[in-house]
Amino acid sequence: MKRFHIVLVVCLALIVGCATSPTGRRQLMIVSEDSAIAASKQAYVEMLKPYEQQGKIDNNKGLKDRVFRITERLIAQAIKMRPETKNWEWSIKIIDDPKTVNAWAMAGGKMALYSGLVIQLNATDDELAQVLGHEIAHALAKHSAEKMSVAMASTIGVAAVGVAADRKGLALTGAALAAALAVQKPNSRAAESEADRIGIELAAKAGYDPRASITLWQKMAKVGGKGPPEFLSTHPSPENREKTLAALVPQMMPYYKGKGPRPTYQLKG
Ligand SMILES: [Zn+2]
Repeated sequence: MKRFHIVLVVCLALIVGCATSPTGRRQLMIVSEDSAIAASKQAYVEMLKPYEQQGKIDNNKGLKDRVFRITERLIAQAIKMRPETKNWEWSIKIIDDPKTVNAWAMAGGKMALYSGLVIQLNATDDELAQVLGHEIAHALAKHSAEKMSVAMASTIGVAAVGVAADRKGLALTGAALAAALAVQKPNSRAAESEADRIGIELAAKAGYDPRASITLWQKMAKVGGKGPPEFLSTHPSPENREKTLAALVPQMMPYYKGKGPRPTYQLKG
């Protein structure tokens, strides 16, 4: 009976829930982007709350200004790519946590960057633009809705949601919980290369050197400590990532070298 249910859910998902990503990949999409955005809004507040209570959000003005300046140029390019996203409540928060090398994005452009990524990688503006462009690309390509769909379509996912809810103590249920967990789960390789491909283009068009995508991943791989940085555990890094990015660089250079204006988007907060 249980197996029948799973089969039924998956079949329904396949019938009603497929979409095509910006690079032409088929995506399982039983959670609509609108519901992923609504769920993410709630999940975002809940996930940031513990840091806020400890005064660990946006407390380094210099870093905040720098990250905002870069992100605002990237968002302007994201809106050019998908105009309806100008209605999103775009947001980025910098979490003061020097030990964590991580960044994530939820549906609707809700993002977080850990100070550890900037400090431990000694990241340049060009490299930061690659990280942030990559995260914006995940949101643009509806990867959160896709991950939530995959989680909801599997009973293993549902069981994991229950366990993680106990562990994380998040005051979230249903879709909002799935949204919170989606950012903690690894991305598929397909989603990763898509985010790399879109991210490097957003960054180049915003005036950031595409060659930094290569040095960024080299630095990321070198960061020591116990195990790989969190960013690498949620971002499975295929061996050929560097090669693929290097192959994209020549196509991106004209955008980067172009003299065109670099518009910006005004972030709140
Ligand atoms: Zn990614």
